[in-house]
Amino acid sequence: MNKGKLFVITGPSGTGKGTVLKRVFEDNKELFYSVSATTRAPRPGEEHGREYLFVSKNEFEKMIGAGQLLEYAQYSGNYYGTPLRPIEEKTAAGADAVLEIELQGAVQVKKTCPDAVFIFIAPPSMEVLEQRLRNRGTEDEKHILMRLERAREECAAADRFDHIVVNDDLDTAVKELSQIILSYRK
Ligand code: ADP
Ligand code: 5GP
Repeated sequence: MNKGKLFVITGPSGTGKGTVLKRVFEDNKELFYSVSATTRAPRPGEEHGREYLFVSKNEFEKMIGAGQLLEYAQYSGNYYGTPLRPIEEKTAAGADAVLEIELQGAVQVKKTCPDAVFIFIAPPSMEVLEQRLRNRGTEDEKHILMRLERAREECAAADRFDHIVVNDDLDTAVKELSQIILSYRK
């Protein structure tokens, strides 16, 4: 059986990665979504094991030490990382997997999995990005500013990705991302 493909989705916080991906997954039920581990607190409505594995700093550092993460990074004061085992199992069984991770993690995956497909979800502008992040209402001012600072670094790296999808009109972005993923699948 052929190994499944790895799709890495990156983009600044508030650009709409989660919103676009939710729609793409509704239309592509056989895609495997990689549930990351994080030390950040759950937002209202988020469930352990669905959006993230919510773990303590100590637990996260144990996962690092035990080599259980494909990649990890610190972002806005917390750890985020991709558990390796589920990705290995799913892709070995032929399933395509999607990782939604920030830039430093994507750079690590590029080294260990050079055949992965790297897709950047860009906002229409920095102003719109800030507006979306603020309207979402999930972070305090300090964390909004930390996220916007990282956003500038991430947008500056967008042209290193295989594809860029601008999330202006949601339907268009969903269609574009779905078509990119489909174009690599057998
Ligand atoms: P991310 O996962 O990249 O941090 P979210 O998916 O949480 O971003 O989206 C950030 C905010 O922007 C949310 O409130 C979401 O409803 C809104 N949003 C996402 N895509 C669009 C779009 N195309 N047009 C307008 N608002 C959007
Ligand atoms: P949020 O707190 O908004 O859910 O995520 C913050 C950032 O962490 C986003 O850019 C998201 O893509 C990224 N992220 C989520 N999971 C992972 C992961 O497993 N590894 C890395 N490197 N980044 C992640």
